[in-house]
Amino acid sequence: MSQTYFQKGFNLKRVVGPVLEENYASKVVDRLKELGYTVRAGDVVVKLAREFGFCYGVDRAVEYAYETRQQFPDRRIVLSGEVIHNPEVNARLEAMGIRILREGSSPAERYADVGPEDVVILPAFGVTVAEMQHLRSTGCVLVDTTCGSVLNVWKNVHQYARDGFTAIIHGKHYHEETKATASQAMSRAAGRYLVVRDRREAEHVCAFIRGETTSADLMSALGKAASPGFDPDRDLQRIGLANQTTMLMSESLEIQELLRKAMLDRHGEAELPSRFRAFDTICSATQDRQDAVNTMLAEGGLDVMVVVGGYNSSNTQALARMCAARLPTYHIDAARCIEPAGIRHRPLGSSAEESRAEWLPAGPVRIGLTAGASTPNNVVGDVVARILALRGLSPADLMTA
Ligand code: SF4
Repeated sequence: MSQTYFQKGFNLKRVVGPVLEENYASKVVDRLKELGYTVRAGDVVVKLAREFGFCYGVDRAVEYAYETRQQFPDRRIVLSGEVIHNPEVNARLEAMGIRILREGSSPAERYADVGPEDVVILPAFGVTVAEMQHLRSTGCVLVDTTCGSVLNVWKNVHQYARDGFTAIIHGKHYHEETKATASQAMSRAAGRYLVVRDRREAEHVCAFIRGETTSADLMSALGKAASPGFDPDRDLQRIGLANQTTMLMSESLEIQELLRKAMLDRHGEAELPSRFRAFDTICSATQDRQDAVNTMLAEGGLDVMVVVGGYNSSNTQALARMCAARLPTYHIDAARCIEPAGIRHRPLGSSAEESRAEWLPAGPVRIGLTAGASTPNNVVGDVVARILALRGLSPADLMTA
């Protein structure tokens, strides 16, 4: 029987490498790095975060998608959702004839026309257990690009389920990665999960653990993010923390500590080890990008911050949130957002783009720049070029600040 499951690509880097370089590299970004990440052109200073853009998981997922096209030139290839949350990358894949399947109400609906002759690429953030089972049953070829850091979260969540701990997942219950992780928590009959999006939701859980609210209160606040049949009285006796890999690291740690304290208050020190577990499951790439932004913000001196990445990219949103707490911040998804008339951006918490004419202060200006883990360098380079063009400058004018 021929192989139908591939997790390590097709050893075609030599072939697709030059194409990836042409599609996603940027001479402007290379120049910024050569000049020490902080550059000047005229009265504009641009400071690029030391860690930004494509992470190792995204790099690998995109490469495997290109390799898959090369390996199966005559087969129909579909992507189970966006391989990563970046509109430009997804548009390029679609232009290569790779169809991106939208979500369905069930695996059978989503993959209704997938058959044994098809090739299905699974994204970096993984798919649910039910989707995987369905896809395997079709006999199609599966190219699994699930990131190792996501697999690490799944491993911890499995252990929780095995040991009778409910997984409390810091994440967005509707995000593909969190849905996949939650499904892993259900891999055992006794598996349970509850997703908390932020500190406020974690505090609801803490209040219940301390006996300050009822299970009905908790379920009315968080029921839609809990496993089927979730019973707070039964299912919050032993809890294990996990998180979507791209959340704000500081918030994940804060939530972990809040819940630890609530369990300590309820059950006492002696009981804690048998009732509370936590692993740090923020991936190192997310952490590095957040650390780099923290460093930039701590150094100060910036007038405005531009954060580049897909609007549905969780890690980009986390970066924008960190910056917006300190200075005017514009989350844009592509260079097209920067126009002579102003900037089109997505404010924090908003679901639509807004335009702002007066976003760049007149005269000398210092602009901070970073990009989420799903943003390729060419997009970052184009953003720099468009910003400079607003002042009649070009990347050729860049020099050490
Ligand atoms: S953000 Fe982290 S978990 Fe997600 S693909 Fe990148 S390296 Fe993997």
